Amino acid sequence: MIVERRKYTKTEWLAEGKRRFGTNFEDYKFVCPRCGRVNTGKEFREAGAEPNAMYCECIGRYDESKGCDWAAYGLFDICTVEVDGQPVFDFADTETQSVTISCPHCKESFDVVVTEGEKSTYCCPKCKAKI
Ligand SMILES: [Zn+2]
Ligand SMILES: [Zn+2]
Repeated sequence: MIVERRKYTKTEWLAEGKRRFGTNFEDYKFVCPRCGRVNTGKEFREAGAEPNAMYCECIGRYDESKGCDWAAYGLFDICTVEVDGQPVFDFADTETQSVTISCPHCKESFDVVVTEGEKSTYCCPKCKAKI
């Protein structure tokens, strides 16, 4: 499978981040290419990690209750973006974010990606209830 990658130089990539999220690195959001979770710099800081890790590691490496343990620099490379030849996670859309919700039926908690101002129904991965 050939994945068409978006290639940035570091300068272009930083400019793109600034255009989307401003200058506060904690507001930046990246999508994990494996689990699809939108991770923010703030979450990394709260998990005791370096916010800089957010574009190459999934939050699950620091907080087991969220996301997965994917890293862009791991053995398998499924990233669709690269910066100066380094694979990185893709930027998330400014208006989407992941929230962890817990199922009222079986108490399973799971991450969903929500778009600001939109109400959606989610399917519990464990008991398949619609929430
Ligand atoms: Zn992940
Ligand atoms: Zn459930």
